[in-house]
Amino acid sequence: MKIDILTLFPEMFGPVVGSSILGRAGEKGILEVRTTDIRDFSNDKHNKADDYPFGGGGGMVMMADPIFGALESIKAEGKKIIYMSPRGKILDSEKINELANLDEFVILCGHYEGVDQRVIDYWDMEEISIGDYVLTGGELPAMVVIDSVARMLPDVLGNENSALDESIYSGLLEHPQYTKPREYRGMGVPEVLVSGNHKLIDLWKFREALKLTKERRPDLYEKFVKDRSRFSKDEAKIVEEIDKIDL
Ligand code: SAM
Repeated sequence: MKIDILTLFPEMFGPVVGSSILGRAGEKGILEVRTTDIRDFSNDKHNKADDYPFGGGGGMVMMADPIFGALESIKAEGKKIIYMSPRGKILDSEKINELANLDEFVILCGHYEGVDQRVIDYWDMEEISIGDYVLTGGELPAMVVIDSVARMLPDVLGNENSALDESIYSGLLEHPQYTKPREYRGMGVPEVLVSGNHKLIDLWKFREALKLTKERRPDLYEKFVKDRSRFSKDEAKIVEEIDKIDL
């Protein structure tokens, strides 16, 4: 998977892309993230890449020409291009899966008041938001996209860590997790987790995940329990039990 990032602040990406799981994905050749500095394509002697908005209003707008230059330099014609933007459709697991199935795509990071609309229109960009709030730039949102897409790629997470077992992807929010020590400041861990009985452990995890999901995300809960034919007998009993709890 190759991801091209167009940004005014390429130095922000190194530490994120080079560390931990993303860093290892890069070393293994599974993920290649290339940054292009939009300022390198400015015709201005001070490398200016923004100007005042037509029609007035506060702030600056990123100019079309340096962005066109940056896109042409990476041969972006025909590629999927995303513009990180609070006006976009909110990122979700479906969009992340869709992106993870591509061989490559491009992300444009805005700054200041955003980019000249002609860039978005000409390059037929898809606007994606990471939530209903406004950040100073598209760099952090782009990192959210890179991270969430990368962990869906084969061999990025260890075998024991399937992305599909996790919150949201499994259809439920994840059960609580515990690790050593068994006793910490007077707090223990649920006995069943140290019982060695894997069937009971799996059912405990299922019950806790269901309970948490019903409490915090009733929308996901309703969707998950709709088709009950896929549950084992034990699971169906737990669903019935959680159904009755008023959370
Ligand atoms: N004036 C713009 C508006 O009201 O829609 C906001 C511009 S914002 C201060 C600067 C840049 O940050 C945007 O161009 C975009 O790239 C990025 N950005 C800010 N919030 C974002 C969000 N929630 N999701 C994705 N990108 C965001």
